Amino acid sequence: MEPLDRSTVWPYEHGELGTFFYQRYAHPTGAAAERALGALEGGEALLFGSGTAAVTACVVALMEPGWTVALAEGAYFGTAVTFRQFERWGLRLVEYDQTGAPPADADVVWLESPANPVLTVPDWQAVRGHGGLVVCDATVSTPVYLRALDEGADVVLHSATKFLTGHHDALLGALVTRDDELLGRLRDTRTRTGLSASPDAALSLLQGLETLDVRMRRHTDTATELARRLGDHAAVARVRYPGFSGLISFDVDGDPRPVETATRLIANQTSLGGVASSMESRHRFEGDRIPRGLLRLSVGLEDVEELWADLEQALARV
Ligand code: PLP
Repeated sequence: MEPLDRSTVWPYEHGELGTFFYQRYAHPTGAAAERALGALEGGEALLFGSGTAAVTACVVALMEPGWTVALAEGAYFGTAVTFRQFERWGLRLVEYDQTGAPPADADVVWLESPANPVLTVPDWQAVRGHGGLVVCDATVSTPVYLRALDEGADVVLHSATKFLTGHHDALLGALVTRDDELLGRLRDTRTRTGLSASPDAALSLLQGLETLDVRMRRHTDTATELARRLGDHAAVARVRYPGFSGLISFDVDGDPRPVETATRLIANQTSLGGVASSMESRHRFEGDRIPRGLLRLSVGLEDVEELWADLEQALARV
């Protein structure tokens, strides 16, 4: 295992800068984690202080005032919130249905596969003919289920806070690309704006990647079965599940609060991608952008029957 090096400085080598000299530029634990993630995605990876820091780096490094970003509808709501911070600086945001063609005049096509929480996946064929810069947030797929650079993305984004680290113990983002020019601009922006990741979070990523494949397959097996049973349950109006990974969104008629607060094994908390299951109504954050009764369930690694028993007794509150 890569040792955790929390140093912020390393001595110059014969008066010259070595590979590592100041932590904001690069550090050994981060570099090792970047090599591991880059190998999985088939590109060069850069770590950032959070998924949101990675979004910010894309805006500052890769976009120009007056540009239009076409964002997948129903994608992580915080991504649109981040883009809106830059409206004052001349960025234009439009949302579009990523199951169809992106708007022709967009400078950037921002996909999320699958979108959190509506769980749509992009039409890659339509994206490949577009001509704009293509960024794909693959947080929920992970490289186990999607190699977005192979599909036509210029840059892949991860909130590594989620499945990649997997234990709710690190806030971390990542960008991966095969384009040296984009990589250089993103690396420069990271250093100049201080969006760097900590060595501790990088170590969590190294540890998380060791079990990623086996965790993702278990998440998928359990979520597939729970999605099937939820679909047959009388209190559930609609189930969204893309067929892989650990995220399910389902709708109950009426107020979802009595259901989310009734689970015992499944924690009522935000975020996703941990080894322990969690569930929340997204309305508290997203308002009427999503159905009022939508519950987002992040399926962990617990026993499927225990999870189902917990969901069943909670659904009795509808
Ligand atoms: N992208 C997706 C799909 C997310 O779900 C999240 C957070 O929930 C983010 C990006 C933002 O990541 P972070 O919370 O690490 O800043």
